[in-house]
Amino acid sequence: MIVNERIVTYLHSLEKSNGELCDEIERFAHETDVPIIRKEMESFLKVMITMKAPANILEIGTAIGYSAILMAKAMPEASRITTIENYEKRIPIARNNIEKAGFSDRITLIEGDALKVLPELAEIYDFVFMDAAKGQYMNYLEMIIKKVAPGGVIICDNVLQEGDIVKSRYGIERRNRTIHGRMRDYLYELKNRDDLETTIVPIGDGITVSVRKDIG
Ligand code: SAH
Ligand code: MG
Repeated sequence: MIVNERIVTYLHSLEKSNGELCDEIERFAHETDVPIIRKEMESFLKVMITMKAPANILEIGTAIGYSAILMAKAMPEASRITTIENYEKRIPIARNNIEKAGFSDRITLIEGDALKVLPELAEIYDFVFMDAAKGQYMNYLEMIIKKVAPGGVIICDNVLQEGDIVKSRYGIERRNRTIHGRMRDYLYELKNRDDLETTIVPIGDGITVSVRKDIG
């Protein structure tokens, strides 16, 4: 945990329910080890969506549809979400949840590997939520940056790796070293690109918010 446990518990205690269906999906996710966004990211996303009122949202990593449904509830009625998932077992569950939520016509779930799907997307997005394989964030970024208009927002989850990010490479278990290095490179990239303004927010499992700048 990055933030003091008592503070996290207290903040969680202030969160309201997102309705019966979301509560049910959340319970199912916890029981079956599906990694969905944490409470901190939940309210963070809802605020960002309400503030930006995006018309066209792209999500990488649907899992069982929890965050997509949450975003759909916060977005304007005419807005649309495209969400990508490649884990076959989760796709029918996500579709079912999206239908139950009444969002089948506003959330499009694309099945497949984001690395293959992203270059084929024809649309421009004004809000992107990246929440898939952490080791691939750099590759996703290269592909989505071309599909985000100036003023568009890119949010990434799980960027601080439970705090491991600040440890030296040698303090990291060998099997986690590649991902540790990749995430450090990724954060450096986000902070140093001319076409992005980025803040790293150390709540939940670490969040980045970037805005695409118009650099002409
Ligand atoms: N955003 C979801 C949770 C996503 S968990 C929520 O909060 O409700 C991350 C998901 O990304 C997993 O279901 C995993 O299967 C998917 N994923 C990982 N790599 C992927 C890839 N290359 N293409 C598509 N989906 C991917
Ligand atoms: Mg996540």
